[in-house]
Amino acid sequence: MNPILKSLYPAFLRAHILHHAAEGPIYGVEMIEELGRHGYRLSPGTLYPILHTLERGGYLKQRSMVVGGRARKYYAITALGRKTLREIKIKVWELAREVLDDTPRSSSSRPARPGRAVGR
Ligand SMILES: [Zn+2]
Repeated sequence: MNPILKSLYPAFLRAHILHHAAEGPIYGVEMIEELGRHGYRLSPGTLYPILHTLERGGYLKQRSMVVGGRARKYYAITALGRKTLREIKIKVWELAREVLDDTPRSSSSRPARPGRAVGR
């Protein structure tokens, strides 16, 4: 894999996980399926250490719930997790606004900057 993309993946994964945990408690298998929909192929051996790190850092809180007669570990977002997610959203929004501004749809409304090629 391209090393730059590879270096960004852990950050994307954490942002995804916090986002979904903010919507409601998550569990491992569910997150593996959800991340798979976004093209991230994760094994439990990759996901669980991330969940545990987020838990140790105080971003998620684990609790066991019995579902269908089986104990399942759920991870709920904490106040620190929510605060962190808000900061991540600001960064993602800021970046997306700039890098996606390249689309033809929005380029006409943007004034050309000095020293920049126009009409690429
Ligand atoms: Zn997602």
